[in-house]
Amino acid sequence: MNIVKQNEEWDNRIFSDGWRPAIGGSSPVVEPSTGETLGNVGLGNAQDVERAAQSAVRAQSAWASTPFDQRAAVLREAARLLKERGSEINEWNIRECGSTQAKAQWELHATYEQLLAAAAMLMQPDGAFYPSVMPGRMNLCRHVPIGVVGVIAPWNFPLLLAIRSVAPALAVGNAVVLKPDPQSAVAGGLLLAKVFEDAGLPAGVLHVVPGGAEAGDALVRHPLVGMISFTGSTAVGRSIGRICGEMLKKVALELGGNNALIVLDDADIEAASSSGAWGSFLHQGQICMQTGRHLVHRSVVEQYAARLAARAKTLRVGNPHTEQVDLGPLINHKQRNRIDDIVRRSVAAGATLRAGGEYANLFYQPTVLSGVTPDMPAFQDEIFGPVAPITVFDTDDEAVDLANGSPFGLAAAVHTRSLARGLALSSRIKSGMVHINDQTVNNEFHVPFGGMGASGNGSRFGGAANFHEFTQTQWISALHAPITYPF
Ligand code: NAD
Repeated sequence: MNIVKQNEEWDNRIFSDGWRPAIGGSSPVVEPSTGETLGNVGLGNAQDVERAAQSAVRAQSAWASTPFDQRAAVLREAARLLKERGSEINEWNIRECGSTQAKAQWELHATYEQLLAAAAMLMQPDGAFYPSVMPGRMNLCRHVPIGVVGVIAPWNFPLLLAIRSVAPALAVGNAVVLKPDPQSAVAGGLLLAKVFEDAGLPAGVLHVVPGGAEAGDALVRHPLVGMISFTGSTAVGRSIGRICGEMLKKVALELGGNNALIVLDDADIEAASSSGAWGSFLHQGQICMQTGRHLVHRSVVEQYAARLAARAKTLRVGNPHTEQVDLGPLINHKQRNRIDDIVRRSVAAGATLRAGGEYANLFYQPTVLSGVTPDMPAFQDEIFGPVAPITVFDTDDEAVDLANGSPFGLAAAVHTRSLARGLALSSRIKSGMVHINDQTVNNEFHVPFGGMGASGNGSRFGGAANFHEFTQTQWISALHAPITYPF
């Protein structure tokens, strides 16, 4: 299949009151596997964001007053069109972002589910009645839209990480300005805009403005944007949090991770090593929930390291557009050099290379390091690449201390044949998500997703959490007749 070269409506454009050139110019779409330029997208700047925010404010109140079943119908139609255009969207995800075919297919399905879940959410109760201390008074609390929500998304799961904010934010009556990363602007923005446009979303309710830090910063600082939903690195999230704090703006921050998989002495090592390989190498390790630290009991560490290295050596690395592979390319050279530097410095500090450690262009071999100690970069840093560092422990207490020995707290996993032991450990691990007898990369659209510590500011995506994230609570009280106060 080769459908990405068509002269699309979005070619050299952004989506902001229809398709138009960006004031900020344009940016090439480069395929990481080949270095080939696949097309050009509009690249928004601060002026494009200004224009989008003004238009979004104008469109929002009519959208919020549209009956909920009509808003839900637009989301359901968007879901249908997404599936109908699945092969085109998957091809872009594969070629623009280096996704494997299986990852692209899973992401498309998860994005579809998010759209349907956002539509279905509108049929749930959206508030509550409370008793009153005042006779004859009725207290009602309801969720009201924020107004304009700014969504800033990264390139690694470009569809899902955009839609998990965009869909619920739109559903409850907000307008949205989405700023995808320029490295994933087609899959993570412009194709979604086209789906919403064709699904009948009124003009001005959604703007898609691909751009870099300038556009992102303008969105964060814009006084008409009432909330920022940011997914990305902890460093950028921290600075966005600071700006939003100063402006008293609602902000949801979903940030980095350095996630521990604990393998206890009673674990099924074959199964644990499969979890470890999947958790570290899926999408070349470019996942916030990546298994970044394998903490393994001393009695089984040799067996585990050997099995993990054997699995790593069998994985196929290559161009996912032209070959059946398990790992595609890394997103760019900067990332590759950063990952390789972490591996080199850890080996220089005493870690043992059990597999991988080599690359050609952007194709990095799945890498296993054993003998990793907490002072090494492979333990401390978020790797975001196909590297599995193994660290040994002797007691459950030590495993918990090691797992918690990171400022991040996104996901964790425990392998044990004793569910009771796994549950006991899970309550001691500072992590937003803990999976027993599984790996760290898990996402279900209806279950609250999010991190602790340096992985976020307590925001959650999924299920009932979405109503709270993208609305504000309003208390309405009503008396049958006015009362008279002492003065
Ligand atoms: P990044 O922080 O560099 O970029 C994320 C987004 O922010 C991009 O759209 C980028 O253009 C924009 N941006 C950059 N500087 C900005 C600024 N000053 N103001 C406003 N916007 C700005 O992150 P990345 O390297 O693209 O993504 C990888 C990171 O994202 C990893 O740390 C990963 O763990 C994290 N991540 C977290 C989750 C989660 O759900 N917790 C999911 C995926 C990725």
